[in-house]
Amino acid sequence: MRIAIIGAGIAGLSAAGALRAAGIEPVVFDKGRGPGGRIVSKRTPYGGVDLGTQYFTARDGEFRAAVDDWRQAGVVEPWVVTPLVLPERQPARPQERLVAVPRMSALARYMADGVDLHSGVQVSEMVRESTEWAIYDRHGESLGQFDSVLLTAPAPQAQSLLAEPSPRLAARAVAAPMQPCWSAGVVLEKPLDVDFDAGFPSSGPLGWVARLGSRPQRPDDPEIWTLHATDAWSEANIEWSPDAAGEFLARSFADLVRRRPLIRDQIAHRWRFARARTALAEPAGYLEHDHLLCAGDWITDGRVEGAWRSGRAAARRLLSLAAEQSGPDGE
Ligand SMILES: Cc1cc2nc3c(=O)[nH]c(=O)nc-3n(C[C@H](O)[C@H](O)[C@H](O)COP(=O)(O)OP(=O)(O)OC[C@H]3O[C@@H](n4cnc5c(N)ncnc54)[C@H](O)[C@@H]3O)c2cc1C
Repeated sequence: MRIAIIGAGIAGLSAAGALRAAGIEPVVFDKGRGPGGRIVSKRTPYGGVDLGTQYFTARDGEFRAAVDDWRQAGVVEPWVVTPLVLPERQPARPQERLVAVPRMSALARYMADGVDLHSGVQVSEMVRESTEWAIYDRHGESLGQFDSVLLTAPAPQAQSLLAEPSPRLAARAVAAPMQPCWSAGVVLEKPLDVDFDAGFPSSGPLGWVARLGSRPQRPDDPEIWTLHATDAWSEANIEWSPDAAGEFLARSFADLVRRRPLIRDQIAHRWRFARARTALAEPAGYLEHDHLLCAGDWITDGRVEGAWRSGRAAARRLLSLAAEQSGPDGE
């Protein structure tokens, strides 16, 4: 059974892990430089800065079991936070926040270990040829023929790939629009004297702030804060240059903490497709059309856990398709 997985984010890697455990080696393609997708840490002269996913939670039993394995392997640790407390907002429900160590991208690297991963390869076309899927890169070069394909790109990218081979699935992707997000890492000359590590400011352009050094195994000298703009600000200003957006977010942070921290450097990143505005909450956890499956956070609940569960559900379906194909005698 030849299976291609497009995308080496959490959904694609979760599926790859389940397939490999069942004895099938999928071929994984990702247009990025390495695995992880939105679980990413930007390399900087100050070390890795987590500019994408900040933390994740584990509510579902199967995902909790995976998290336990990651904790035993030393890839994931809880992040104990002193939250930003706002008089106008109820404190958040206590929940265990989990982070990969020593940086978020370590989880993807761990999950990708041993996987047949082809990074820097953008899949641009999928064509149904008789009983196989032929896939092509953006130069029109063939990437091979596969019995099944699992597509795990964010909804808008999935939509353009699906338009030709499955208008029905493309329409499902249109129904899961995604929210952009400006993210910045702000490097300070001196540590800030504030009594919180992280939180969701309730007004202004910042939707999330977090001190990198409060997470396990991160350097805290120099002090670095991760800032995310609100959905509304990100959407209105998505075409700003990274420098302008980073400077603006750093100034907004100074307003928030009512101090004028000396800023040594800032690194901004534009996420055009950060989170699903309305995820599909698809009960199966995946979408399917003629041996072409889709998985990803937008199909479930827009979070790391949902992406992982979606990848697992798709892998189970691929395994049942493989069993059907090999027939009762395993031929
Ligand atoms: C700023 C930000 C903050 C977040 N914070 C949190 C949080 O605190 N908690 C939480 O649970 N979640 C958070 N999320 C959401 C979380 O990151 C996602 O739910 C999860 O990582 C999605 O995984 P995925 O595998 O579905 O998609 P992705 O991680 O997007 O993976 C898809 C992969 O497909 C690849 N790809 C796309 N198109 C192609 C193509 N044509 N050819 C080849 N490869 C392709 C991409 O390069 C990418 O690697 C956050 C996201 C962002 C951006």
